Amino acid sequence: MDRDRILLTPGPLTTTLRTKLAMLKDWGSWDADFNAVTAGLRERLLDIVHGRDTHVLVPLQGSGTFSVEAAVATLVPGNGHVLVPDNGAYCKRAAKLTQMMGRKATVMPFAEDAPVSAAALDDKLNADASITHVVLVHCETGTGVENPLAEIAQVCARHGKGLIVDAMSSFGALPIDARAIRFDALIAASGKCLEGVPGMGFVFVRKAVLDACAGNSQSLAMDLHDQHVYMEKTGQWRFTPPTHVVVALAEAVAQFVEEGGQPARLARYSDNCRTLVDGMRTLGFKCFLKPEIQAPIIVTFHAPAHAAYEFKRFYAAAKQRGFILYPGKLTQLETFRVGCIGAIGRNEMTQAVAAVADTLREMGIPNGAPAL
Ligand SMILES: *Cc1c(COP(=O)(O)O)cnc(C)c1O
Repeated sequence: MDRDRILLTPGPLTTTLRTKLAMLKDWGSWDADFNAVTAGLRERLLDIVHGRDTHVLVPLQGSGTFSVEAAVATLVPGNGHVLVPDNGAYCKRAAKLTQMMGRKATVMPFAEDAPVSAAALDDKLNADASITHVVLVHCETGTGVENPLAEIAQVCARHGKGLIVDAMSSFGALPIDARAIRFDALIAASGKCLEGVPGMGFVFVRKAVLDACAGNSQSLAMDLHDQHVYMEKTGQWRFTPPTHVVVALAEAVAQFVEEGGQPARLARYSDNCRTLVDGMRTLGFKCFLKPEIQAPIIVTFHAPAHAAYEFKRFYAAAKQRGFILYPGKLTQLETFRVGCIGAIGRNEMTQAVAAVADTLREMGIPNGAPAL
């Protein structure tokens, strides 16, 4: 089969032909035409969060984690103290990279099947005045749970703490308005809900904190302040930009705007998620999260209890039918994940459920019911 398979993963994800075709051209990184693409893209990204008055947009080469690490290293001074509410794998990664950047990090554990609590964070900030920043993962992609960004931002603002948001898997789909939600930095990437290809991240940095960030980063390549100053002065990226990724993202953002922006994307992903969950339920599968805390980004399902189930075989059989699933990320429970994001709609989700049904039949598993 030489057709592309549908990626039901949280990035890289299925992109449109138009986005892919944008990559069939070579660009000079110093050339005015490419600089214009970067400048236009930065403005359009700021528009998505209504952040032109309050924030700057600093792009960075690399996968999304590079930008999270860069944001922590650039915003948090060497003697800072970062609190990381932890309800999943990406929170743990944020805490780990904070520690590895040499910043003090305190992890605040929460259950994996619940959102982090703004009230508990409030108590913690009351109890420990040495905390300078909070790093919040908006949608914890490890499970799919949505954390309460607006409430957490209110608590941080009330305490005068800097808020750094990893909005990697939510940006573009869930509403984020910089006029209503106060954050010092918010991080996302090209290959998630904007439906570009992977290869660059970007960070919205609050103008009011920008100057104080000079000299914080111990890394040259990951210094967002330096990247910003250079880009403002020259219109260019500091080091070789991922040119094809940038033009593909610009093309993807143009389609995002044409589709109707964030509300339209949320509506399509919500429909994808509903179609998936309803279909999987009819096959006996059970979701890990309660529906009210499930973001329409990625869904964690319990593995079927049947003895013939094995993720590797399940994955291979679904792949043969044209769909790429995603392994689970929970340590205690056997699960698998299915993404709802990318340039796909209800038809693809319906077909994915049919492929799973067929896969179960092939494996001799009567239904997807998990162990009780
Ligand atoms: C995808 C993602 C990242 C970045 O992962 P990379 O593999 O570095 O692109 C970070 N945080 C969250 C919540 C994500 O979903």
